[in-house]
Amino acid sequence: MTENAISIQNLSKIYAGGKQALDDVSFNVERGSIFGLLGPNGAGKSTLINTLAGLVKKTSGTASIWGFDIDDNPRNAKANIGIVPQEIMFDPFFTPRESLELQAGLYGVPKSQRRSMELLKAVRLDDKADAYARTLSGGMKRRLLVAKAMVHSPPVIILDEPTAGVDIELRQQLWEYVVDLNKQGVTVVLTTHYLEEAEELCDRIAIINHGKLITNKPTKELINMAREKIVQLTLENDITETPIHDAFEKVEIIAGSTLEITYNKDKMNAGEVLSVIQSMGLNIVDVTTKEADLEDVFLSLTSNAA
Ligand code: ADP
Repeated sequence: MTENAISIQNLSKIYAGGKQALDDVSFNVERGSIFGLLGPNGAGKSTLINTLAGLVKKTSGTASIWGFDIDDNPRNAKANIGIVPQEIMFDPFFTPRESLELQAGLYGVPKSQRRSMELLKAVRLDDKADAYARTLSGGMKRRLLVAKAMVHSPPVIILDEPTAGVDIELRQQLWEYVVDLNKQGVTVVLTTHYLEEAEELCDRIAIINHGKLITNKPTKELINMAREKIVQLTLENDITETPIHDAFEKVEIIAGSTLEITYNKDKMNAGEVLSVIQSMGLNIVDVTTKEADLEDVFLSLTSNAA
């Protein structure tokens, strides 16, 4: 049996109408981790999650949850995952307690093993156990969704980012609960377009853009990448000595006269890199920058966070 909570291989989705929402995506989520799936709006995050949930039919590729293939073993795959959807959907005439009991019934959890009140307590809704869903605030409804996703005690939970109507305090509360769940051993996947949030919570972050996975790294490494920029310089003459500067994180001689400099963009801009090199008496004949796609995504992620 695999050690992965989720394994996705070469997953693609083309919607009827021709929109390619996922393009050959592969990654694993390690058991016990908090995994962040980042990407701007329209990147394909919900499509990916809905595929795992069995709500979207993939075009090609494979996926498994807790070692169970979603095609070969859909019941077991489903039993091992809890999904907190983006949209709030409730029957307004059910109370939170009834809602959880109903969900437990759908998952075939025997009455003796149900823990509706315990779950309501965990999401701080125990005093609303018998109130109608329509009387709950937006935040309370959101918490109830998390409790609903946990009725069958799945080892993996996925939170599709609540985009609309969620205030900062509620996000904070939700994430505290998520971290608690993780401490109890639950593997967590969350989608977000807030880079800072993912940085705070996740062990590992994958980024998708236009349906393609563009990076998948431990959080620290990724955040460092966000601070780094790379320029490639072609010099007039061959380099004999590697140029050194405080703000240069890495300098590599690619070929006789081509240098690749990784620098910290908080400390320096590209123009300053060029001046430093020129002040060392080296003449630059060509300049190229790298990692434009990742840079663009980071920009849109950070500007969305406002
Ligand atoms: P995200 O969750 O990252 O915002 P989505 O997975 O919702 O992204 O969407 C990815 C792309 O697929 C978008 O271009 C979106 O318009 C398109 N899309 C999503 N759902 C459908 C659908 N049911 N039919 C056609 N296109 C869709």
